Amino acid sequence: MLPVSQAEQMILDLVRPVRATESIDLTLATGRILANSIESKLDFPHWDNSAMDGYAVKFADVRSSTPKHPITLEVVEEIPAGYQPKREIQPGEAARIFTGAIVPAGADTIVMQEHTQRVQKNFVKIQITPTAKSFIRHRGTYARIGDSLLAAGTILNPPEIAILAATGYSQVEVYRRPRVAILSTGDELVTPSQTLKPGQIVDSNQYALAAFVTQAGGIPICMGIVPDDRAKLTAAMSEAIDSADLVLSTGGVSVGDYDYVEAILAELGGDIQIRSVAIKPGKPLTVAKFAREDRAIVYFGLPGNPVSALVSCWRFVKLAIAKSAGLPESSWHPNWMEVTTTQDLTADGQRETYLWGKLELIDGRSQFSLAGGTQSSANMINLAGTNALAMVPIDTTTIVAGSTVQVLGL
Ligand code: AMP
Ligand code: MG
Repeated sequence: MLPVSQAEQMILDLVRPVRATESIDLTLATGRILANSIESKLDFPHWDNSAMDGYAVKFADVRSSTPKHPITLEVVEEIPAGYQPKREIQPGEAARIFTGAIVPAGADTIVMQEHTQRVQKNFVKIQITPTAKSFIRHRGTYARIGDSLLAAGTILNPPEIAILAATGYSQVEVYRRPRVAILSTGDELVTPSQTLKPGQIVDSNQYALAAFVTQAGGIPICMGIVPDDRAKLTAAMSEAIDSADLVLSTGGVSVGDYDYVEAILAELGGDIQIRSVAIKPGKPLTVAKFAREDRAIVYFGLPGNPVSALVSCWRFVKLAIAKSAGLPESSWHPNWMEVTTTQDLTADGQRETYLWGKLELIDGRSQFSLAGGTQSSANMINLAGTNALAMVPIDTTTIVAGSTVQVLGL
C-alpha cells in the first residue's frame, strides 16, 4: 500500500495540463482559467482625475485660505465625469469638478465641496487651506501601458473580470476545461427513476461525481451504469478513455470475484501505477495512465462505496483536475488547515484516516466537529453538510478533543 502523500505526487506526475484554448464571452468567464498573459492596453487611471466632487484650483492661490479669511475664486468651467475640459485654469480661477472628471490643465489641487461655499453665480469661497495636490488620482499610478496585469493560469474571479473589462476585453482566451468521463460499475445499480428490486441500489455515485467534477472545474461526461460483465465493461472503459482527459469509474476495484477493472485496464494497455493506497476510506484505488498521440489520459478506478468514492475525489482527483485545468502548481495541493477538534478523533493507526464533519467558527476560532451518526464508508447520509475532512495520520490512534488536527477544506 502506497502512502497517501506518495500517491498524491504520483498522480500529479501523471496528469498533463489541457493545452487547448477557447475564446469565450467575458460574461461567461467566471471561474475559468486564463490561457494568455494580459498586458495593459491603457494607463490606469487613464488621465489625472478628481477623487472628489469639488473645485479644481491652483494650490498657490489658496495656500493662505482660512474659514475666517476665505479666498474667492472665479468658477470658469464646469467639468462633469465624461467631459474633456476646454480651458486652462489661470491664477484666481477654479473649475467646478465631479468625481472621475478630468482635472483641467493649470489646476493642481482639488478642494472638496464640503470646504467651499458658492457665492453669486460664478464664484466660490475656499474655506480651508487644502493639502497641496490633494484628491487627484494621477494618470498611470495604478498601471501603465504594457504593464503585466494578469498571468496565464490565473483563475478568473470578479476582480480579474473587472480588470479584463477595463482594459478592453469583451472576449477572453481560456483553457478548455478537462473532460472527465464518469461511469458506475455494478450489477446492483439502477438510475434514480427506476423502482428498486430486492438487492438493487441507486447509482448515486454518478451524480455525486458529476457534481464534484463541475465544482472542481471539469466537464463531467456521464456514461451511466455498466454491469459487472467483462465484455461490456471493457467496451465502456475503452470508450471512456477515448473520449476524456480523465476517467473516473466507481466500483469493481476490490478483491471480489466481480471486480474486473484492474484486469481490464491492463488488457487495454494501461500503465497501472497505483493499486491501493494506505488511506481510509478509499484503500482500493487504482490509477492507470494511457498514452495517446495527442494527450495522456489518467484513469481512476475508485471504490464503489459512496463515501470512499467522494473522499478519493476530494483527496486525489481534485488535484488532478486542478493541474489538468491549467492552474499553476501552487494550486494543485490540498487545502490543509490546522484547527482545533471539538471531539476525540480515533483511528486504527494502520492507514491515514479521514473523518468527515464540519469546520465552524466557534468562539472566534475554526473548530472541527465530526458528522453525527456512523462514520461508515457506505453511509452517505451523514455526509450531508460536510465541509471538511479531519486527517488522523498513520501510527496515531487518537487525537484528543481540544488539540490541533489537520483538516482538508472541501
Ligand atoms: P464495489 O467497490 O463494487 O465492491 O462496491 C462497494 C459498495 O459500494 C457496494 O456496497 C456497492 O453496492 C456500492 N456501490 C458501488 N457502486 C455504487 C454506485 N455507483 N452508487 C452507490 N453505491 C455504489
Ligand atoms: Mg461492485
